[in-house]
Amino acid sequence: KDFLTIIQKESNKSDYDRYLKQLVYKKVSSDENIAIFEVNNKYIASWIKSKFTDLIQHCFEIYNGSKPKIEIRLAGEKKTKKEILKEQVENETSESTILNPSYTFDSFVVGPSNQMAYNASLAVANKPGIQYNPLFIYGGTGLGKTHLLQAIGNHALEKGKTVIYVTIEQFMNDFTFSIKNKNMEHFRAKYRNCDVLLIDDVQFLSGKEQTQEEFFHTFNELHNAKKQIVMTSDRLPSQIAGLVDRLRSRFEWGLTADVQIPGLETKIAIIEKKSDLNGIKLSKEIINFIATSLDNSIREIEGVIIRINASASLLNQEINLAMVQGLLKEQIKENKENIKLPDIINIVSSELNIKPSDIKSKKRTAAVANARRVVIYLVRELTHNSMPDIAKVLGMKDHSSISHNIKKANELMEQDENFKLVIQNLKNKIINKE
Ligand code: ADP
Ligand code: MG
Repeated sequence: KDFLTIIQKESNKSDYDRYLKQLVYKKVSSDENIAIFEVNNKYIASWIKSKFTDLIQHCFEIYNGSKPKIEIRLAGEKKTKKEILKEQVENETSESTILNPSYTFDSFVVGPSNQMAYNASLAVANKPGIQYNPLFIYGGTGLGKTHLLQAIGNHALEKGKTVIYVTIEQFMNDFTFSIKNKNMEHFRAKYRNCDVLLIDDVQFLSGKEQTQEEFFHTFNELHNAKKQIVMTSDRLPSQIAGLVDRLRSRFEWGLTADVQIPGLETKIAIIEKKSDLNGIKLSKEIINFIATSLDNSIREIEGVIIRINASASLLNQEINLAMVQGLLKEQIKENKENIKLPDIINIVSSELNIKPSDIKSKKRTAAVANARRVVIYLVRELTHNSMPDIAKVLGMKDHSSISHNIKKANELMEQDENFKLVIQNLKNKIINKE
């Protein structure tokens, strides 16, 4: 049977007579992804495209058993280079916008620690480009920055906006790739033609001069066109080392909002929400236990809930406090086995901006002594290393100064809110290996 006979049977008479019978089937693309049809009249082509694509696809399946994308062209049409570029970009934009559909505003628990970032994100998602441009969300690892960023994306997509979500690293790779392939035109068309540009983890722009230069132009172009830009970072723009001034100041043009470590109440609400989403019911006692044992990263809390769920459903274990305590112990043990002392030194070094060699030296300036104390505290907390091990690596003669440092750090954890925050953020970074 030929294609037209099939479509005649599957459609009503007037549609067929007026439009569909003008379809001429040309070919399937070489990779079999697209079936190409031609029509002689521009208006009919666009009418068919908007009304009958699904029907045509259905008939094509009857016709030859495959289900490629349907493309309707004007007969003899040669696409201009610009159109081809635009199409390429449109296709890619929808592909590269791989947003996690579960990262929505609905699934985000709001509390004092993230209220402002949440409100600003919602405002921006509702009216992109109008207020707070750019929006800059910053805060420690695992506290919901990516979640909020993608919630903006999902919301804007629903409202029919063009959204690009990338990490700054993807942006950078894309950029280098385009230079290599002499395809900057395409790169620029992609990043400069969206309604909402979402860039995750911009702290990695640090020291990347060429990418900064390109991002500067992308930023200006979008900002001038009143398109929304949202960025996340683990620190304030002013604290991103090696960021050129003109970018830093632009990052501060709009609104800067932080996400902080949630308080107990918010943590409890998050655990309730996440266990709901995982389809498990936890008692008050268990929820409290988890909330008080895990003191910072929400990602870690989520990990525990997934484990509980797995043990319950795969091993048929009953969910009770003992089981959850066991799982948590396991998780903490695993963390400890995976974390190495040099990693801790490196992360503390880069976060506090003190050279590893200084941390291991005998220097006694306040900043170095503080970094050393932080390392000691974290090594004690996160690894199985003994005091003599630590003393050896840090070039300390005896371990009495180690225990002195630990004592001091414990005091600071009680008294110094700032010290506590630094420790918690570092802990997140180390546990999440970021
Ligand atoms: P970040 O990007 O700040 O490192 P993420 O956005 O990746 O953190 O969050 C880590 C995990 O914690 C995600 O699975 C996210 O859904 C969850 N999460 C973080 N904050 C919240 C919150 N307030 N409500 C619900 N889930 C949250
Ligand atoms: Mg993130």
